[in-house]
Amino acid sequence: MARKCLFCDNRADSKEDVLPVWIQDKLGGKKRPVVNGFYGYHRIATQGVKSSVKTGCVCHDCNHGWMSELEDEARPILGPLIEDIHLLLDRNQKLTIARWSVKTAMTMTALNRKQRESFYDRDERFRFRESSTFPRHTRVWLGRYGGSAEGGMFGIDGWDGNPEGSNVTHFYITTILFKRVVIQVLSVHAGNYLKGSTIAIPTRGNWRDALLDIDIGSSANIFWPPPISISDILEPTLLRLVYRFNVNARPFDPFGPDA
Ligand SMILES: [Zn+2]
Repeated sequence: MARKCLFCDNRADSKEDVLPVWIQDKLGGKKRPVVNGFYGYHRIATQGVKSSVKTGCVCHDCNHGWMSELEDEARPILGPLIEDIHLLLDRNQKLTIARWSVKTAMTMTALNRKQRESFYDRDERFRFRESSTFPRHTRVWLGRYGGSAEGGMFGIDGWDGNPEGSNVTHFYITTILFKRVVIQVLSVHAGNYLKGSTIAIPTRGNWRDALLDIDIGSSANIFWPPPISISDILEPTLLRLVYRFNVNARPFDPFGPDA
């Protein structure tokens, strides 16, 4: 059976680079892992200069239409970040980064489409294409990475109770690393018992100085890079970032502090 596009009702007939070619070209080293991570239980590992991770998950119109426009919009902003150039990001630039990040997070979930459904449901994906509407309860953070990995993609599920249960809050954390840039997207599907409540997914560690909150509701400019870089060995580490939400500590208090 023909696969459907992630974002519309067309047939998925186009290969989408999860990380765009212009970013892949900046990730170097013949023998070094360029993309290394996992999505759920599925490991992603490729290497090589022209290494790419593609998903056959979108249609030609989406890939060469709004997705390509979004890449063009994001490139002049993400480019300087990769090159470690100090930058003031205004509201529109923050919005572009957030849209690009959510697009990439959604596309990433198609990497093991055979094994499982995307965390993002049809409504969330279609509305994102149609009107750039972000999935509810979604946040995006931007950090500077000072370690030695070239790139990485990590997708992790978390639940606040039994994953098999019907009334459970399910959240999904995507971490995308390329050169000096690390982006994290958190999306939450709240259990019914949380309707109307404020949702706080507890985190481990203090990330205030290491992550910039790409709060699209705020018009405040943010300054890149953040005061503290994320590293391989010294805290805060990349691994700590990937696992900073209490994904193994269940059940937890969903009303607990957002440290
Ligand atoms: Zn499409």
